[in-house]
Amino acid sequence: MPTLPTIYLRPGHAERVVAGHPWVYANAIHHATVPPADGDLVQVKDSRHRFLGVGFFNSRSKIRVRMLAPERVQPDASFFAERVRAALAVRQRHLPGATSFRVVNAESDGLSGLIVDKYEDVLVVQISSLGMDRCKPQIVTALQDVLSPRAILERSDVASRQFEGLEEANGLLAGRLEGWSAGPAEPEAAGQAAGGLILPMNLNGLRFEVDLRGGHKTGLYLDQQVNYEVVARFARGAQVLDCFSFQGGFGLHAARAGAAHVHMLDQSAEATAAALRNAAANGLADRCTAEAVNVFDWLKARTRTGPHEKLVPHFDLIVLDPPSFTRTRAAVPDALRGYKEIHVRALKLLRPGGTLATFCCSHHVDARTFQDVILAAAYDCRRLLRRVATLTQSPDHPIIPMIPETEYLKGFAFELIR
Ligand code: SAH
Repeated sequence: MPTLPTIYLRPGHAERVVAGHPWVYANAIHHATVPPADGDLVQVKDSRHRFLGVGFFNSRSKIRVRMLAPERVQPDASFFAERVRAALAVRQRHLPGATSFRVVNAESDGLSGLIVDKYEDVLVVQISSLGMDRCKPQIVTALQDVLSPRAILERSDVASRQFEGLEEANGLLAGRLEGWSAGPAEPEAAGQAAGGLILPMNLNGLRFEVDLRGGHKTGLYLDQQVNYEVVARFARGAQVLDCFSFQGGFGLHAARAGAAHVHMLDQSAEATAAALRNAAANGLADRCTAEAVNVFDWLKARTRTGPHEKLVPHFDLIVLDPPSFTRTRAAVPDALRGYKEIHVRALKLLRPGGTLATFCCSHHVDARTFQDVILAAAYDCRRLLRRVATLTQSPDHPIIPMIPETEYLKGFAFELIR
């Protein structure tokens, strides 16, 4: 094997790498032997010249090196196949029976810069680092080898690619997708006409449609797969409000679990339309309604009372699953105000004995801070809560505590005591 360019770290910067964090920032680097080209595989050594492993170099990124392995590896198709097989085994152990899930979750699976989602027999790949981008052919070969998908699509349209000097990239990488947009009876489905690519998929035995070309993330939020079923346990006989419902993940699980009625709210009219189609496809349409509205406005209107009016709470289960209100640490205080506001209003609409299931997907707001905000909201409207579940991201988004960035989703279910 040829000698690799060597990156030497400053004293004190090796421990994190040795402990398993794959990111080497510019400030950790002392010098390089020969200047590596961007995207090259390099070897990393500590200040005393001890070998720490190999990774991909990129001078344009704040993350100068993304470590790949603590030993010398060749990033060829068999290397990727081995990593994908290991990742798949984790999903088969922790999500047995699931047919759609995240196969590779970047740092969580030792492949910084690579996400692979499986929607039935179609794979969607998202690449956010230059090193991984260079390995696209090897990655595709490995995925075909391990998973034999019908097709592999790329949805590398994430903003973070710009930090790596990469353009957006979308398209079919392998296989065929003709006819996937349409059921057998409708050759031109609306989804395809609008530039989407609709695929039916199964989550916990419920049928959802996923828009592989235009959907959020790589199409759908897979990270709540386990929580859908946990939260649905609180839905029997309930009047349910699913806020930030997207295509009805929580709402439809609640409806199947015996909710009396489910009302879903999302600002995207496409999402609420899809939620209603999903409800119909699962025979749940009679119990489900949806509205394309801003949740903040809707909650405000429903909790506004005149001087001597008393608000009559109407719901037995309220789900709050908003988008991340903050992508940066600096914006956390604003985000917390937003979280508090929706909690105050949701609590006012919850009947005593009812359940509030609430989530926060911002990495910058930890579980303690999130719960503090909920308690502050409860105090403002004089409610007392019993915590009945502590929730996290589904196990196909593995948390590696040594890599704090891999943990982002937290949630709670609270029952309203009074
Ligand atoms: N619960 C969903 C995922 C929610 S993601 C699921 O399990 O699939 C967040 C959703 O909130 C997105 O669908 C987005 O369209 C919607 N959204 C963002 N801001 C909103 C707002 N102010 N009012 C209503 N919906 C909003």
